[in-house]
Amino acid sequence: SIPLSFFGGIGGASRSGILVKGSNYLEALAQTEIVVFDKTGTLTKGVFNVQEIHPENISKEELLELTAYAESYSNHPISHSLKRTYGKDIDNERITNVEETAGHGVTATVDGKKVMAGNIRLMEKMGIPYFKGEVVGTVVHVAVDNEYAGYIVIADEVKADSAQAIRELKAANIKQIVMLTGDAQNVGTKVGKELGLDKIYAELLPADKVEKLEELFAQKSAKGKLAFVGDGINDAPVLARADIGIAMGGLGSDAAIEAADIVIMTDEPSKIATAMKISQKTLRIAR
Ligand code: ADP
Ligand code: MG
Repeated sequence: SIPLSFFGGIGGASRSGILVKGSNYLEALAQTEIVVFDKTGTLTKGVFNVQEIHPENISKEELLELTAYAESYSNHPISHSLKRTYGKDIDNERITNVEETAGHGVTATVDGKKVMAGNIRLMEKMGIPYFKGEVVGTVVHVAVDNEYAGYIVIADEVKADSAQAIRELKAANIKQIVMLTGDAQNVGTKVGKELGLDKIYAELLPADKVEKLEELFAQKSAKGKLAFVGDGINDAPVLARADIGIAMGGLGSDAAIEAADIVIMTDEPSKIATAMKISQKTLRIAR
């Protein structure tokens, strides 16, 4: 049976903007040893701003337009930023054959041209030679009709609340704070160092994230729990695999909210530490 105090705990959490889907998850929170974060939209704002546009054999305007068109059906934060920078309405009649590949990018036919926009993994898969220099930021490479057309550098910002979230988790004696990201190594390292995370794994496909989670499971004690926190785009499998799957509801996708055990209704990762405090208090009352 469920001690009455758990209803109080779940109610208290909900008043703090934390939706707990069952008393077992509230109890598990108090035993958390490892907290694993997704980067984009979870520790960072998930709002990328275009920093630089480097066209090759095409004008800047055309590169941005073809990219925004190719991205028009995507729901990824990268896509939203490119459409926002393009700024004009998209004429859907100009787009066909849209395909999005998780952890890679998109391909589409725009005005009869085959446009690919994504990371180096997509370029390598398609056999397109691309710019390999050092860039600070997330890079979207673009090819038009199988020819390299240049790259767009975008950058996201760490949420102001993330530093507090990490500090509070460290104060709560969490043994490991880890970040998993599909983004480039240099971007992941920069965010991870800024926040003082224990481990950073980058350039992961959604399936690689599940694999990393399995590795981390082996590093906790038998009764210890592992929590994963994500905003959801492509993260439903990891949310489901974690002992405690936590979705950030602020920007999060419906699939993530569905797959999660706990939903943070705001975009503040520090609510995870708040939830742990509520959990510990509830357990003390229950015992
Ligand atoms: P994460 O949420 O960890 O950043 P994702 O799996 O959502 O990881 O994306 C990983 C990488 O795949 C992105 O950093 C980007 O390089 C590429 N990517 C994914 N979707 C798109 C898209 N719509 N347009 C361009 N690149 C994309
Ligand atoms: Mg994501």
